[in-house]
Amino acid sequence: MLKKLYPDYIFPTIQDIDDDFFRKLNIRFLIMDIDNTLVPYTCPEPTKQAHAFLQRLKKENIAGGFVSNNHAARVELFNKTIGLPYICNAKKPFTAGIKKLMKIIEADKMHTALIGDQIFTDIYGGNRAGLTTILVNPIESSETPFFAFKRKYEKMVLKKMEEEKKICLKSTDAQNILQ
Ligand SMILES: [Mg+2]
Repeated sequence: MLKKLYPDYIFPTIQDIDDDFFRKLNIRFLIMDIDNTLVPYTCPEPTKQAHAFLQRLKKENIAGGFVSNNHAARVELFNKTIGLPYICNAKKPFTAGIKKLMKIIEADKMHTALIGDQIFTDIYGGNRAGLTTILVNPIESSETPFFAFKRKYEKMVLKKMEEEKKICLKSTDAQNILQ
């Protein structure tokens, strides 16, 4: 069970993902979380950084889509200028939303990665669906007590994973996530 919580890769932010990362892993499909992964939770529309990342995927011929636990209005507004397939109210870590999106973009497990900022929803869901999982540090640090509580347990999982040397740290900055 614990291993299903371990991400395959960790980066501080989406901007830190190496240029050849997706190519090297033969990733052709990317399922993305939105809140605190691509933009801050409080940011309704894509930022310059989010646009740049999505542009990069396009250039690399990676088909993308969003699987968000947030409600339709949030996801629709965010996606308005992007126009990618999406699933809202996805209830990650349940895999139904993830699988639904994979069907829409005609993705296969072998060539699909999921990126998100939360271990218990994104990473656990992605691992359960049999995908390559990528964890990024949440963009926004100011969070509710509930999130702070959850983060504490996420850090415990990451520490445990580090002990078992199952982690693949692509950047020394990623060490910060473990502190
Ligand atoms: Mg998130």
